[in-house]
Amino acid sequence: MSDKHDEPTGVWCHACNGDGRIPDPKLAITSGTPQTMVSSRECRWCKGTGRRPGFHPPV
Ligand SMILES: [Zn+2]
Repeated sequence: MSDKHDEPTGVWCHACNGDGRIPDPKLAITSGTPQTMVSSRECRWCKGTGRRPGFHPPV
């Protein structure tokens, strides 16, 4: 009997929506002109994997 379901290894990271990266807008001044640079940084919650380990609380 296969009563087991295929459980995902984790849940989608809500911080980056599973993208693994988070847009990190920063105000940078290049050539004397302040610009908003949007650089994606690695999600610190899922460490770039886009998934977070699912927690199974003990019953
Ligand atoms: Zn993430």
